[in-house]
Amino acid sequence: MADPKGFLSTDREVAKTRPVDERVKDWNEVYVPGSLLPIISKQAGRCMDCGIPFCHNGCPLGNLIPEWNDYAYREDWREASERLHATNNFPEFTGRLCPAPCESACVLGINQPPVTIKNVEVTIIDKAWDAGDVTPQPPERLSGKTVAVIGSGPAGLAAAQQLTRAGHTVAVYERADRIGGLLRYGIPEFKMEKRHINRRIEQMRAEGTKFRTETEIGRDIDAAKLRKRYDAVVIAAGATTSRDLPVPGRELNGIHFAMEYLPLANKVQEGDLTTSPITAEGKHVVVIGGGDTGADCVGTAHRQGAASVTQLEIMPRPGEERSAGQPWPTFPMLYKVTSAHEEGGERIYSVSTTHFEGDEDGNVQWLHLIEVEFKDGKLEQKPGTERKIPAQLVTLAMGFTGTDQKNGLVEQFGLELDERGNIARDASFATNVPGVFVAGDAGRGQSLIVWAIAEGRSAARGVDRYLAGASELPAPISPTDRALMV
Ligand SMILES: Cc1cc2nc3c(=O)[nH]c(=O)nc-3n(C[C@H](O)[C@H](O)[C@H](O)COP(=O)(O)OP(=O)(O)OC[C@H]3O[C@@H](n4cnc5c(N)ncnc54)[C@H](O)[C@@H]3O)c2cc1C
Ligand code: SF4
Repeated sequence: MADPKGFLSTDREVAKTRPVDERVKDWNEVYVPGSLLPIISKQAGRCMDCGIPFCHNGCPLGNLIPEWNDYAYREDWREASERLHATNNFPEFTGRLCPAPCESACVLGINQPPVTIKNVEVTIIDKAWDAGDVTPQPPERLSGKTVAVIGSGPAGLAAAQQLTRAGHTVAVYERADRIGGLLRYGIPEFKMEKRHINRRIEQMRAEGTKFRTETEIGRDIDAAKLRKRYDAVVIAAGATTSRDLPVPGRELNGIHFAMEYLPLANKVQEGDLTTSPITAEGKHVVVIGGGDTGADCVGTAHRQGAASVTQLEIMPRPGEERSAGQPWPTFPMLYKVTSAHEEGGERIYSVSTTHFEGDEDGNVQWLHLIEVEFKDGKLEQKPGTERKIPAQLVTLAMGFTGTDQKNGLVEQFGLELDERGNIARDASFATNVPGVFVAGDAGRGQSLIVWAIAEGRSAARGVDRYLAGASELPAPISPTDRALMV
């Protein structure tokens, strides 16, 4: 156990963010660099090392949280990093981006603020990189088997790293020009600087994983050819089809899917563009959708110099405390103030967009909305509450409907879909096609990075068993594992 009295003597303290005025002028991560180091060992010391650590179950990766809290408390950073990597390939991603369902399941959280697990995680991994402790781990011998991974988001990268380390020869195919999936082109730089992806890719290359960018499976290489060339295939193509809003005026200029808007801002940060062709500068911006993607649009619009930013959400404003229906240790839907929301803008709940209005040149100028309420379990419009708000740039951040089928991927492989339209799989992440597995959002539907990594690791075990008859790779979850699901 870390500090037997830590939870009594130390209050919860989290990473400090930079002042809003300063950080909206740049795209760097919002946190004060190095602010965690002086406090984190004491924070880790708040861990009670419970008999039944519910945080293990709250974390889809089954991270060994009390163990690395203990090492962090003792400042044995190398051992902490070893325990962290035992269950998580990429703690620098989750330590920055995870909504931390582990903290919702922390036993201390029943009657006190929970342990700052995510902050401990990111400190351990950042220290490990700084100390040169994160090194390539190439396999001792090769199996002679080959695996193609389609998609280079967190699910594809986790599967590829596990399979490479198990001795298989792995190539990752990515249709975009850079590796990383939504980590690269969805999530903005101010949430995670892309240098963290780049150094992981270098580690993976040194271990033997091959990367093929600008290659879309289904279009540039068909499924039959890929199956002939490789002994197994992992589909980790994400759920990248955006949900649309088919209301009058949708065709006006200035209305874009979030995933048309955000990647361009990220490309500016990569140095590919000097300015984004879709910019919020000087405009009244409306973001439709109240989730993470919407918050990323809000933060991006602030940095591009928007005149105003309004975020709309059809659902009512969530509460600030757990409701009876979301008891500990579940991951509750609570009202969240993200770093983007701290930076300004207005959030309007319980409203639905009825139509858009444009000027004579076909550019969007106004968004018309109406208030809605739940009646007998159904969402109904409230008559007489219609109004319009200025909207010169609108981003649609209303979620995703499934994996992209336009490139023929699903059809060419002959994949079955489940009732939600995702690629169906069994308990070992195998699809209906022998030797073809699926991991991450492609099989699960739009989810979280931590789930993508957990699924990538688990699918890798399924593939390893398929290729070698048995596997020593760990499998944190099965697709039917819905306990404490987020
Ligand atoms: C804007 C945004 C912000 C988010 N923020 C967070 C957050 O803060 N925290 C969090 O936990 N989660 C967040 N998420 C969700 C998270 O990013 C995803 O759940 C996660 O990235 C899914 O990983 P994946 O590997 O399954 O798929 P993806 O990351 O979507 O990667 C799939 C990759 O496959 C490629 N691909 C698709 N089809 C083909 C093909 N036929 N051939 C070759 N390549 C192909 C795509 O180009 C893409 O690069 C966010 C999502 C979005 C959109
Ligand atoms: S990956 Fe997420 S859920 Fe797991 S320990 Fe880290 S912050 Fe918690």
